[in-house]
Amino acid sequence: MVSCSSCGATAEAPLGWMTEITERGPVYLCDRCSRENIRSIEGRLDPVYW
Ligand SMILES: [Zn+2]
Repeated sequence: MVSCSSCGATAEAPLGWMTEITERGPVYLCDRCSRENIRSIEGRLDPVYW
């Protein structure tokens, strides 16, 4: 069982999910949130983010 770290959705297996390894361990993002996360990563190029 995995749960989305963003929206809290759960699934038996993170198929199609994004897995990110952090200092606290693996973090999963569901397919929806992974798309939004990709956008946010691209948005990090914006200095306003920091
Ligand atoms: Zn999600």
